[in-house]
Amino acid sequence: MKKISILTALVLASFGSAANLNLRILETSDIHTNILNYDYYQDKFTDEYGLSKTATLIKAARAEVVNSMLFDNGDLIQGNPLGDVAAKIKPVQKGEVHPVFKAMNLLGYDAANIGNHEFNYGLPFLKIALSGAKFPYVNANVYAASGKNYFKPYTILTRLLKDSTGKNVRIKVGVLGLVPAQIMQWDKSNLEGKVTAADLVKTAQKFVPEIKAKGADIVIVIAHTGLDKNEPGDLAENAAIGISKVDGVSLLLLGHSHADFPGAFYKDFPGVDVAKGTINGKGAVMPGFWGNSLGIIDVKLEGSNGAWNVVSSQSSLRKIYDTAAKKANVDNDPAIVAAIDADHKATLEYVRGKVAALETPINSYFSQVQDDPSIQIVNQAQTWYVKRALQGTQYEKYPVLSAAAPFKAGGRAGASYYTDIPAGTLAVKNISDLYVYPNTLKAVLITGAQVKEWLERSAGQFNQIDPKGKPNQLLVNDSFPAYNFDVIDGVTYEIDVTQPNKYDGKGGMVEGANRIKNLQFEGKPIDPAAKFVVATNNYRASGGGAFPGLDGKNIILDSPDENRQAIIGYVTSLGSVNPKIDNNWKLTPIVGNSVLFLSSPNAVKYLPANAKKQADRADGFSEYILSW
Ligand code: MN
Ligand code: MG
Repeated sequence: MKKISILTALVLASFGSAANLNLRILETSDIHTNILNYDYYQDKFTDEYGLSKTATLIKAARAEVVNSMLFDNGDLIQGNPLGDVAAKIKPVQKGEVHPVFKAMNLLGYDAANIGNHEFNYGLPFLKIALSGAKFPYVNANVYAASGKNYFKPYTILTRLLKDSTGKNVRIKVGVLGLVPAQIMQWDKSNLEGKVTAADLVKTAQKFVPEIKAKGADIVIVIAHTGLDKNEPGDLAENAAIGISKVDGVSLLLLGHSHADFPGAFYKDFPGVDVAKGTINGKGAVMPGFWGNSLGIIDVKLEGSNGAWNVVSSQSSLRKIYDTAAKKANVDNDPAIVAAIDADHKATLEYVRGKVAALETPINSYFSQVQDDPSIQIVNQAQTWYVKRALQGTQYEKYPVLSAAAPFKAGGRAGASYYTDIPAGTLAVKNISDLYVYPNTLKAVLITGAQVKEWLERSAGQFNQIDPKGKPNQLLVNDSFPAYNFDVIDGVTYEIDVTQPNKYDGKGGMVEGANRIKNLQFEGKPIDPAAKFVVATNNYRASGGGAFPGLDGKNIILDSPDENRQAIIGYVTSLGSVNPKIDNNWKLTPIVGNSVLFLSSPNAVKYLPANAKKQADRADGFSEYILSW
């Protein structure tokens, strides 16, 4: 009896000294200046995105728990015309608060990370913008020329929280920030010579022990990166799985891929438990994009001797919009709407300005499967711009081709993400809709052989179709980003999707694979040794998308002008625009079979001759059948 009671007393004593703490971590990411739930291209309100709605989810999620913290994971200041106005049209000046922070400062963020798009407007503008945030920013893997961290690499936040018995406890939360090293390619003109970027996993290995040594109980890595099934190589863009294996990392806040984690898409990824939302046992979350989701990690911590450790976690996402029921889950937070009212009105004034008349409608519904007016007009504008820019230079003797890709073509952004401009007036909002990124115009000098390889890489957009297989095989590989499907105007060609894909997008290739057929210049087979100028953007010319032969070394026109400005210049010079397609490329007919292609239900208005609509789907897309 006596022995048992001593044991019982010991057990009780040890339970008594171990405390438990529940902490809810909230994450937003990839807001892309979508502060208000407004589609500036369609010029109307939307229920599908906007931090004004996410804010309502944030407040509700906080109210349910005793302890919570809120973080943002970047790609914040670029992405829609509100961001363009703040950066370019009426640039935010030193001492002024960027509109995104007028809103976010109301939400009590604990800390935030810098995304790759934060560099799009250059470092001086980024500095001005970030100075308006009333919360700390961290990034550990961007270095100044001196070798020092360009930003504050991490912060250790001390928070007074309540444990499960209601007692106040002090906890130290280390927060480390990371961004893909590819910023050096994607924003080469803004960053080269000024900063360098280091590997994400190695940077975490370097700093996490330091953060722990300084007394952090837990370490949250806010990494603007996603998951890749393959082991991350040096400078891997999507390194979340690698970071999860770094000792001392407690939780991962992810972004960049604009995807949902946890989510079924990731169920077969190594180390991933999609039910709990963990990667190699570490709680992780990625909240979609544009504020469409709030990321939550509910963390259980256990403390003894003044140290706190994560014992379990459960990740989840809350959506502002119910895609299946097609209805809003939440209303706007009126304080956020009021905070950016003046900036919203300035943006409306900007986007409604007329630049030209439009004689025929422009849409992107079939831009992935046939020559298309939304790409044609971009290529015509780029060609016009480059020919003028090269006049009188040593390069004016070369033919000018132009490459452009579908930017708004459904995919992960959903069935409403297409360009659809009615005939009538072409306004600024329509130009931004045709060209959604603030890329700058570049031209490269390459050979005819390289033109073919460029197109082979583009042609990786398509699944390989078995011409003798079952009908209605899915034509487009939905993991291939549409913005990497470059159409090159100025040459003619066919894409034979019954052939294997040549490039894997990571530098690997299938020897002998050949999808590009009948590539001709001026009606004759292209001369592999002849030289061509190709108009493109800074992203592609510097190596974005891993296109063979494009690494920034063959840029011969390095313009500071945005591609959008080239389009505005071109259509203004015409006065009235009729972007007729020239059918310079087509899929090689798969005679006797048909393929399945997904597009908007609205695409039915513009059905090509060889297409018919088959069915509507629950995810908002419609199925179309192409046959020959
Ligand atoms: Mn993003
Ligand atoms: Mg064309």
